[in-house]
Amino acid sequence: MARLSDPITILKGVGPTKAKQFANLNIFTLGDLICHFPRGYEDRTGLRTIAQLEVDVPACFKAMVMNTPRTNHIRKGLDLTKVQIADHTARLTVTFFNNRFAAEQLQYGKEYIFYGALSGDFVGYSMTNPVFEALDSQPVTTRRVLPIYPLTAGLTNAAMLKAVRQALAICDVPPEILPESVRQTYGILPAERAYYAIHEPSSMAEAEMAKKRLIFEEFFVFSAGLALMRASRAKKFAEPYTNTNLQPFLGRLPFQLTGAQRRAVEDILADLTAGAPMNRLVQGDVGSGKTMIAAAAAYCAVSNGKQAALMAPTEILAEQHYASLNKLFAPLGIRTALLTGSMTPKQKREVRDALAAGEVDFAVGTHALLSDSTEFADLGLVITDEQHRFGVAQRSRLSAKGADPHLLVMSATPIPRTLALLMYGDLEVSIINELPPGREPVDTFLVGESYRPRINAFIRKQVAEGHQCFVVCPMVEENEDLGVKSATLWAETLQKTVFPDLKIALIHGQMKAAEKEEAMASFARREADVLVATTVIEVGVDVPNATLMVIEDADRFGLSQLHQLRGRVGRGGSKSYCILTSQNRNPDTMQRLKALCKTTDGFRIAEEDLKMRGPGDFFGSRQSGLPAFRVANLSMDLQTLKDAQAASARWIDTEGTADTPEGRALRDRIGVLFDRAEGTMN
Ligand code: ADP
Ligand code: MG
Repeated sequence: MARLSDPITILKGVGPTKAKQFANLNIFTLGDLICHFPRGYEDRTGLRTIAQLEVDVPACFKAMVMNTPRTNHIRKGLDLTKVQIADHTARLTVTFFNNRFAAEQLQYGKEYIFYGALSGDFVGYSMTNPVFEALDSQPVTTRRVLPIYPLTAGLTNAAMLKAVRQALAICDVPPEILPESVRQTYGILPAERAYYAIHEPSSMAEAEMAKKRLIFEEFFVFSAGLALMRASRAKKFAEPYTNTNLQPFLGRLPFQLTGAQRRAVEDILADLTAGAPMNRLVQGDVGSGKTMIAAAAAYCAVSNGKQAALMAPTEILAEQHYASLNKLFAPLGIRTALLTGSMTPKQKREVRDALAAGEVDFAVGTHALLSDSTEFADLGLVITDEQHRFGVAQRSRLSAKGADPHLLVMSATPIPRTLALLMYGDLEVSIINELPPGREPVDTFLVGESYRPRINAFIRKQVAEGHQCFVVCPMVEENEDLGVKSATLWAETLQKTVFPDLKIALIHGQMKAAEKEEAMASFARREADVLVATTVIEVGVDVPNATLMVIEDADRFGLSQLHQLRGRVGRGGSKSYCILTSQNRNPDTMQRLKALCKTTDGFRIAEEDLKMRGPGDFFGSRQSGLPAFRVANLSMDLQTLKDAQAASARWIDTEGTADTPEGRALRDRIGVLFDRAEGTMN
């Protein structure tokens, strides 16, 4: 018996060339091959007679070859082979193009199984290029449900099928990880059967069953992993905070908290006084005021003699948080420090020493806070901002810092419920569904190229009124194939030909971190009127003076991303606008973009977005913080997800720690999934 970890080159017919093709599909081992699932099936079961065949509906039928196939050389590169076939109901002329194999194989007087579709015209029926197999052959392309695989150049479906079939014959499928009780409850195929049936189903119904099992399995592994994380933290003890008086802090704010902010703060206080580590997500649309909630939590930790840390995904955001929170906290006697990667080694060391000595109460920083060399004297609370940038595995690493600190994560990206259930299955959730008072919604318009003069005039008008504008392009550099605006070139065009008298600045993802920081900071200091950017500006930075967001080729972005970008304006007191340009006249696309003009409800936009695009795409390039699911489709399989989640929760409660073969195999799989997920999470 071969093992799942054996390389595919041990298979017959898989040499170095084939192996390279498989590698393009990330298939290296027999296990990878067995887990390369079909993307669909063709039902080639059932035999018809020739008379029963329908035009354009492919089907299998048995027929006898009535003459010796004749091949005509039409011209260079085109050979036509014609043959007559028949059964007891009808005759049929079959034509093959450039098919020497057919010409050689089909023998006068013998019967074959064909699979093909009739084409009909006024002269009569005919068939071109059917596949066929001898009656006594093992069914490969006829008389079966044929799996259709994701392929790559040079690799045919038949070659894939052959390789998979061999692999299944010489090695065991992955071990069972679903407990018997769970399989019983949800009517789920055992692993062994499912892995065979997904590749070699005896019927479409069996293929469906196999698919259902594998989807369930994916969700189960993931949610069991989260549940384990949650359970292990729930068992931990955290000394309940006793001082919950936030008045000194709240009294210094220039505004009253909104109702939603107050409720979130109350949730947090309840967690902090409960005696177990907090695991809470605060989810709220851009501009809903999450920073103050983080500040309230940090204040509470510090007034109970603990240290708190706030982690932001970018340096510039960390700096901004530091500046505003330090101003708020310093008069309250709270010692705040900034720690980011770009500080000098000496500066970093000083901050780290102070943190270790307990001379700093509140650390604001980037993932530099996570590094091994950062130690805390008594870390009580860890907060991460813009959580979707961090992902699930980092969360567990964070909470490993200090003695099980309380964990508060904040996400501005409203995620559809399906995704939230998955990503944050280990967290309690507080939702902020209310914006601070006096916020006017950002007026959003969708326009075509003919509006260009008016867009330019509008930019000029905003600048004349003392405001600033963002212009976002889908790409950094010009790419003729795609025909979309690039930030670099567009910035040049605007500066040279459209607005020679204005200051145009540029920021994009290919710039060095320090350059980006400087460009952003300079814009925030009003040193430029217009900032041409890529999506790097999507997260975080507050430039309240910016009142206009122009998004070029808006059809190139996801809806949620557009919504996030739009959230960069409308943060000051002035009326703000968002202009989406698009030359794409596709009705679906236009409808999508128009939906964005009509609503500012981030959650509704997110649901819409998930429907249109897969979860992989959801946050732009692979930023969902989720592992890639092979079979499951997050927008389709909601019920399966719920079942798997309920099942995994029950499993953790009842037999999660039992030393069964399934339990061990499951824990292995969880380990692999979360490890691997970590690599793709940033
Ligand atoms: P986000 O949820 O996107 O992180 P912020 O915390 O950055 O939002 O808040 C956006 C702006 O709203 C900030 O300028 C902040 O000072 C202000 N703000 C927050 N809470 C309130 C409130 N209750 N009333 C008025 N303004 C508020
Ligand atoms: Mg924020």
